[in-house]
This record gives sequence, C-alpha cells and structure tokens, in this order.
Amino acid sequence: MQRYFANVIDNKVILSKDDEHHVINVMRSRVGDEIEVVSDSNLYLCAINSVKPLEILVKSRLDSNKTNTNITLFFALAKGEKIDFVIQKATELGAKNIVLVSTKRCVVKLDNDDFNKKLVRYTKIAKESAEQSHRLEIPNILGVYSIDKIPSELLKGNLYVAYEKEKGDTSSFYEELNKMPKDNDVGIIIGPEGGFDPEEIVKLNSKGFKNVSLGNRILRTETAAVYALSVIGFSLER
Ligand code: SAH
Repeated sequence: MQRYFANVIDNKVILSKDDEHHVINVMRSRVGDEIEVVSDSNLYLCAINSVKPLEILVKSRLDSNKTNTNITLFFALAKGEKIDFVIQKATELGAKNIVLVSTKRCVVKLDNDDFNKKLVRYTKIAKESAEQSHRLEIPNILGVYSIDKIPSELLKGNLYVAYEKEKGDTSSFYEELNKMPKDNDVGIIIGPEGGFDPEEIVKLNSKGFKNVSLGNRILRTETAAVYALSVIGFSLER
C-alpha cells in the first residue's frame, strides 16, 4: 500500500502539495481507496473520502514494529552522486541520522552554504526513500562537520569506525553488535575514497569509535556504507 509522510489533525490527513499531486494524478486514487500515513512516527490506515477537493480521513491506527535503536551513519564527503545514493540507501536500511563529515582526504569540499542549498534535495531523497521502504521516520541529514566538531549528542551508544587496516572479517563486527544491549544506539563512520588518515583514526578512537573491519576486500566508500548498515540491520533483527 502507498505510504506518505503527512500531518494528521482531527483525523484528517494534510498532505504536501507534491503528495496531493501523487495521490490524485499518479495513483489516480478514487473514493474509498486506502493509503498509509505516517505522522509523528505513528502509522495510520486512511481512506480517500473525496477527490475534488481531496479529503483523506484516518480509519485506524496500525501497529508499526518500531525499534528504539537509533542508527547514525557518519559519511565522509564523497562525490555528489555518491552522497545522493548513500542517503537513499541509508534511509532504506534504517539510519535515523545521516551526518556528512569532512576529513583530510576528502576531495570534495562542501561548505555550509552549499550544504544548506543541497539539503532540500537530500531531504526529498530521504523522504521518498522512507516512504518507499515503509520507514516511520525521515532521517535527519546533518553536516558538514569536521571530526572535531561532531556534536556530542550524536556521539551516543556504540560507535564504530570502518577501517580497512583493521584485521579480521565482518563477523567480529557482527558479534560485537550482537553483544550490545538491545535498544542501544549505534553509530558508524565511513571514510572518503582515499580512506582515513591514521591520525584521524587515533582521534576517532579517543572519541569512543572502535575500529571494525568489513572484511579483507577494499570496498568503495558508498559500498562500505551500505554494507555496514546492512550488518547493523541484520544484527538488530535478532
Ligand atoms: N584508501 C583506501 C580505501 C578507502 S575505502 C585504499 O585505497 O586502500 C573508503 C572507506 O570505506 C574507508 O575509509 C573505510 O571507512 C571503508 N572501507 C572500505 N573497505 C573496508 C573494509 N574492508 N573494512 C573496513 N572499512 C572499509
């Protein structure tokens, strides 16, 4: 069933203009058709009550399988289309926060003005991906921070740095995740195309990030992000 993020006020669904267009012209909805709506992380079953003008009413509240674990992906700035790709995939895989980080070897520079301009597009990608993947939340997209300036409220729970020089295979990361108490927050940081500088690894370790290996192959930065979040997701399914 089609799912939208919207506001629910007095049992009425208030959609964005884009989503109204989607319901009317793309889905060609008719009176009686049902949709799911997420509002304030609650999930509702709703029905079209009238098309012209569009009126959608809540029928019931649905059980939503909410987990309490917040997953934060820290992603070093990579070339533009990789950031778009990672935002889409990280949303599907359940990231609550996607934090862009600028590190020594980042080739791409993105200052705060550029970031704010791009945020509209990033948020649109995340919203569509959250709807498509039936997530209850649109992730927060934050940045751009240097490692030193990452806000402390984002440094909670079990923190990991994906480091290709760390020996071992992915199962040690998976076991590490399985040991952690349920509902603990998890954060993972992925380096840029050129990897982390060893000094940055030391700095991250002092902030509580533990080195983890994603196997003995070198993955591209965007693959590493998707893979790490998949391992985290798999571990949370236990
Ligand atoms: N510059 C390095 C590779 C960087 S890969 C080189 O060419 O040797 C980009 C990022 O993906 C890394 O910073 C790391 O965070 C992550 N990554 C890729 N492969 C990994 C692996 N096998 N284990 C852990 N992290 C990995």
